[in-house]
Amino acid sequence: MPSGPRHARSSENGKAPMNLVVMKFGGTSVEDAAAIGRTAAIVKSRVAQGKTPVVVVSAMAKVTDQLLRAAASAAQGDRTGALAITSRLRGRHRDAAAELIKSPNECCALVDLIEQRFDSLDEVLRGLAVLLELTPRISDLIVSYGERLSSRIVAAAFCERGLDAVRVDAREIVITDSEFQRAAPLDALIEKRAHERLLPLLDEHKVPVMGGFIASNESGVTTTLGRGGSDFTGALIGGALSAEAIEIWTDVDGIMTADPRVCPDALRVKVISFEEAAELAYFGAKVLHPATILPAVKKNIPVSVLNSRNARCEGTRIISLAPHCRSPFKSIAVKKKLSIIDIVASPMLMTHGYLSQIFAVFDKHKCAVDMVSTSEVSVSLTVDSNASLPEIVADLSQLADVKCEGKKALVCMVGDDIRGQNGIAAQVFNAIRHINVRMISQGASEINMSFMIEEDDADEAVRSLHAAFFKDPDPGVFDTEARKAQTVNSEQ
Ligand code: ASP
Ligand code: MG
Repeated sequence: MPSGPRHARSSENGKAPMNLVVMKFGGTSVEDAAAIGRTAAIVKSRVAQGKTPVVVVSAMAKVTDQLLRAAASAAQGDRTGALAITSRLRGRHRDAAAELIKSPNECCALVDLIEQRFDSLDEVLRGLAVLLELTPRISDLIVSYGERLSSRIVAAAFCERGLDAVRVDAREIVITDSEFQRAAPLDALIEKRAHERLLPLLDEHKVPVMGGFIASNESGVTTTLGRGGSDFTGALIGGALSAEAIEIWTDVDGIMTADPRVCPDALRVKVISFEEAAELAYFGAKVLHPATILPAVKKNIPVSVLNSRNARCEGTRIISLAPHCRSPFKSIAVKKKLSIIDIVASPMLMTHGYLSQIFAVFDKHKCAVDMVSTSEVSVSLTVDSNASLPEIVADLSQLADVKCEGKKALVCMVGDDIRGQNGIAAQVFNAIRHINVRMISQGASEINMSFMIEEDDADEAVRSLHAAFFKDPDPGVFDTEARKAQTVNSEQ
């Protein structure tokens, strides 16, 4: 019995421990035995710091895609093709388990369980190859195997490495509506279940390990939160337990000031607001989809993006209020493969209801419009260059003269500190005065400035803008140490 004052047990007072951290590991952080080993070390380091972790894991990298391919093959009657995919997946999961778990009994038990799960998955696929109809509900059941298996393997690997881990079936906690493939969480129920299921485990100093992305409806039927939904699970659990922090472990150092492949002196952004991160994600920065961390933002829980291959790097912290920064921008994002559609010179142009007719065409083809600009005689819109573009143009031609030009890129400069600053636009366009700019917009959010250029000019534009605006970066917001270290290295 520990001596000293007895701390109130969380499960009795209904409050999660103060130092609770939800740690979400993406597919690359659990892709094989080596990655899972690194993940275990990261969680152990948090425990050593006195934190109380709750772990959420994705399926092993690419497994969700492959399960969806197996489902699609089976639904087309290609039973052999579908089973060939699961046979490879079976081997991959078994190999990871065997490499991670050295104690023979535990290893046998885990491998048995993996075999059983794949047997039942194969049964579903055989049935599908007969029925030839893949419903969203069956699709969710099939993809759920990815996270169900990864969470088992990770929990066993943690135990083997001295963590007192328990696998928890996320479907008992994350309750959603029945909108299969993109189910909406039922917050009150999730909060209740998270308290009931997780707090008693935390009282016993256990480390719960659960799959992200998978959930169930109120009748217990498996649902999923939509692709990439594991971050969402992390935020939901963090929100439900009012965690101190949420960590999203991926394979990048965090949000950068620009794509480092294009701009070698890009810097890591140490801290950014939720709104700024959301803007960047919309414009193609792939680090994380901010809508998924909304449950955390609403409760003011900071979210960090971290690299499981470089755990010492502090990553990027995403917080509710933008930190003050002495330069206007935090980051430059680029979205390529865009097309501009110019709709010109119709007598109907700009009359009542005209724009809605134009938008109805995009709606019909389920095509999102990125940017719109109108003048007296024309409307220009930008869209992803997608397969239905010729049809969209044909439909629009019924309304007006239409011109479509591909190979465009949208450059988006994001920063809370451009709000209300004068002369920023002039500085931006001065930095790229050698580049032809087609369309300009300053977002209604007042925290982004974007403009459309030729795709071939995009990299050069980013480098010029970066040179102009990140010459003297604020060390409170950007990782300037890394740049210093680089300079020293290259001088040696
Ligand atoms: N495994 C799921 C996916 O690939 C969810 C996730 O990893 O976030 O979409
Ligand atoms: Mg992901």
